[in-house]
Amino acid sequence: MLVTLKEILSETIEKKYAVPALNGHDFFTAQGCLLACEQMNKPLILMYSGDFTFPYAFRQDVHMRMLLEMGRCSKVPVCIMIDHAGSYELCLQAIHYGCGGVMIDASTQPFDKNVEIVSEVVKAAHACGVSVEAEIGHVGGYEGTPDEGVAKPEFYTKPDEAERFASLTKVDALAVAFGSNHGPYQGTPHLDIPRLQEIRKRVGGLPLVLHGGSGLPDEEFSKAVENGINKVNYISGMQINCANAMRKLSEENAGKRLTSRQLMEVGVDAVVAETKHILEVFNTQALDMQASASEAVTANNYR
Ligand SMILES: [Zn+2]
Repeated sequence: MLVTLKEILSETIEKKYAVPALNGHDFFTAQGCLLACEQMNKPLILMYSGDFTFPYAFRQDVHMRMLLEMGRCSKVPVCIMIDHAGSYELCLQAIHYGCGGVMIDASTQPFDKNVEIVSEVVKAAHACGVSVEAEIGHVGGYEGTPDEGVAKPEFYTKPDEAERFASLTKVDALAVAFGSNHGPYQGTPHLDIPRLQEIRKRVGGLPLVLHGGSGLPDEEFSKAVENGINKVNYISGMQINCANAMRKLSEENAGKRLTSRQLMEVGVDAVVAETKHILEVFNTQALDMQASASEAVTANNYR
């Protein structure tokens, strides 16, 4: 069933777990994620992005129907959302398509401008019963700088800013920077857990999001989840592991007949196995939809 971001995260703080936010960029990876969550009876967030998904889609609207239909037909709660939308327009488009959440990223803007942009999106999204995630502080990566792969402490989220940002914007989930980085890491990353604890204290019942999960050791994930993280974005790591499984099959079959279907099968198997693993690491729990039914929103009924 399709649910909103707010609904899918509704029990995460009390029960101290995180919901994985995984790859909705392509059909076969999305299938693997969903198969694993159905087998484990766990909720799933599938994300797409304007930059990475649509250039390769047959048509944007068809890709979105595919994701939404997968969620609609699923036995477990699924939230479809746009990740790192850079504009108000992209968020409106996601709402129009029927997403249960949007992430508006204005984290490179000064504080006041970030608040202004996010507040506009919140106003529109909440009118449609759709939840909003935003980012305060900045999780780096993909910027093409020589020190890429290293989290920069000057961009870490300041706990007092997180508190002010949450109360000014009324967002439903907040991405915070405390040592993670998008894409591969240089060296072993260490999360600033005391900072996360302080942010958790300041924002109370607001779910917190970890971006740049790929490459973090399991122990760091566990510490993050125990100390206040409720959604983990995990994309690159799964794409790499999936590609490695396909590469292995390809190498084993060098010079022999090999089909795209065989490659996709090992790819999906790798995605299923990894999704099951991270569900354990994130301590993801089955969502009690009866309990969160009071949060049911018009958009959800509309779907
Ligand atoms: Zn991110």
